[in-house]
Amino acid sequence: MLGQMMTQPLLISSLINHAENYHGQTEIYSVETDNTVTETNWSEVAKNARNLASALTKLGLEPQARIGTLAWNNRRHLEIYFATSGAGFVCHTVNPRLFPEQLTYIINHAQDRVLFFDATFIPLVAALQENLTEVQHFVLMGPRNEDAVAQIPGVQFYDDLIETGDANFQWPSFDENTASSLCYTSGTTGNPKGVLYSHRSTVLHSFGANTRDVIGFSALDVVLPVVPMFHVNAWGSPYACAMSGSRMVLPGPDLHGEALVNLIDTYRVTLAMGVPTIWQGLLTFAEQSGSKLDSLERTVIGGAACPPSMIETFRETYGVDTVHAWGMSEMSPLGTANQPLAKHRDLPLKEQYKLRESQGRPCYGVELKIVDDNGDDLPHDGETQGDLLVRGYWVLDSYFQMQDQELLQDGWFATGDVATVDPDGYMTIRDRSKDIIKSGGEWISSVELENIAVAHPSLATAAVVGVPHPKWDERPLLVAVKAEGEEPTEEEVLAFYDGKIAKWQVPDKVVFVDALPLNATGKVLKRSLRADFKDALVG
Ligand code: ADP
Repeated sequence: MLGQMMTQPLLISSLINHAENYHGQTEIYSVETDNTVTETNWSEVAKNARNLASALTKLGLEPQARIGTLAWNNRRHLEIYFATSGAGFVCHTVNPRLFPEQLTYIINHAQDRVLFFDATFIPLVAALQENLTEVQHFVLMGPRNEDAVAQIPGVQFYDDLIETGDANFQWPSFDENTASSLCYTSGTTGNPKGVLYSHRSTVLHSFGANTRDVIGFSALDVVLPVVPMFHVNAWGSPYACAMSGSRMVLPGPDLHGEALVNLIDTYRVTLAMGVPTIWQGLLTFAEQSGSKLDSLERTVIGGAACPPSMIETFRETYGVDTVHAWGMSEMSPLGTANQPLAKHRDLPLKEQYKLRESQGRPCYGVELKIVDDNGDDLPHDGETQGDLLVRGYWVLDSYFQMQDQELLQDGWFATGDVATVDPDGYMTIRDRSKDIIKSGGEWISSVELENIAVAHPSLATAAVVGVPHPKWDERPLLVAVKAEGEEPTEEEVLAFYDGKIAKWQVPDKVVFVDALPLNATGKVLKRSLRADFKDALVG
C-alpha cells in the first residue's frame, strides 16, 4: 500500500517562494564590486529572480542549459542562483581565481550558454571571450558600463536584462531529480571535474544544514558567508538561509580581515562561515583594532582542518562557538559537523573543548565508514585509521560528462581522505591520502603537526609536507611563515613539539618562507611545496 500524502517535487523555487512569502522584509546586505553596500530583502531578491528567470526563458535557451557566473558574493549573484535553477536551467558557478586555461576548459566543457560576470572580471572576460565558443550571451552584472562595451563585443547588462522579464512569471514544476547547479572541483590532479547537483539533493542538503546539530540557520541569525558563492554554492548557505529566512551579509570582493571585521560589527553578524585562512586574517585585525566581535555567536569553519588554537581564540577571546565542519564539493558539501552529545555535558570543560576539535559526526543524510587497502571495513574505535568512504542523499554518484567512471565502491564514494572514526561517529581527518607522510612504514599526520605549529605564538601559519629521505623514504618538513615582528629559530620551533607528540614524528627540519602557496580556494598547495623542497633532506 502506498502512503497517501501529497507528492510535491523538492524544487529550489520552493525555497525562494518561502523566503518571499514569509520573510519578504528580511534584510540582505550586499557589498558591490565598487565596495558600496546595497540593502535589499528576500522579497526584492525573489522579484528580481522571477524577472530574470522570465528574461532567460525568453532568450530561447534549451532546458537544462548551463548558465555560468564569474562573481563574488553579492545580491545579483543570489538572484541568479534562484532564477537559473528555478526556471529549469543549471547555475554553473565558476571560480574566477583559476588560471585562464582552466577557466576556458571549464566554461567550454560545461557548454555555458550565458556568462554572467561582475565588473571586476571585465578584463578577464575580454581576454577569454574569443575562446569561449559555447557562450551566446555575455552579461555584466550591473547597469550599462562603458568599459565593458569597449572591451566585450555584444555585451549585455543585467539591469537591462531583468527589465525584459515578466514579474508575473510562475516557477515551472518538474522532476526533483533535474540538475540544478554545477561546480567544478579545483582539480589538484588532472582536469577539473564537474559535480552536478539536483533540486532534490539541494533541498535535502538545506534541511540537513538547517538541523540544530549541524548549522541550524535561524530567522534570528545574520549570516555572513565568507566562503565564496563560486565554491560549492557557499556551502549551500543561500538555499538554507532562504529556507530559514535568515538575514544575509554578502561580503563582495574584499575578504581581508579589516573588511570582514567591519561588516560583522556594522551589520551585527551572528554567524559567519569560511575556511581557516580567512579567519586568520580576521583574528589578526580584530586584535589590532580592538574589536570584540560582540555580535558574533558562531563560526562554521571547514574546507581545511581548523587548528585547535583558532577554536580556542574564538572561544576565549571573543566568546564565539566554533562549529568545525568537514565536507567536499562531491558532498554538496556537508558531511560532518562537530556538535556535542548529551553525555558530554557533564565532562570537565577541558575535555568538552578537546572533543570539539575533531571534524565532528555525520549529519542525518550522510553515512560514513573507513576501509583498509583491500576495501574491508575498519573498526570505529577512534584509533584505527583508513580511507574514508561516504554515501547519502547529497553525495555525488558520477562526475558531469566524464567517460569511463568507476567511481563508487559498492555504492560508497571514496573521499580521498584518511580518517579515524570513534564509536559515537566523531570523525577526525588525519590527512588527504596523498598528503599523509609515510616514514619508515609508519604514517604521520601532517594535519596534527600543522595544528601544533600554528599554535606557536611566533608563527603566523605553517604547512607540513613529506619530502624524500635516504633512510626513511619520507620525513616531515615544516614550512613556516613567521608572525609579524617575530624571529623564532628552527630550534625553538622544533622544541615546541616536545611532549606533544612522539619524538619520531617531529619534523626533521624547518624552512621559513614569506608566504605559503595557496590554490584557488585558499588551500595550501602541498604539491608545490613538495616540489620546491624535494631536496631539503637529501645529500
Ligand atoms: P578541492 O579542494 O579538491 O577542490 P573541496 O574544496 O571539495 O575539494 O575540498 C574537500 C577536501 O577538503 C576534503 O576532502 C578534505 O580533504 C578537505 N577538508 C574539508 N574540510 C576539512 C576539515 N574540516 N578538516 C580537514 N580537511 C578538510
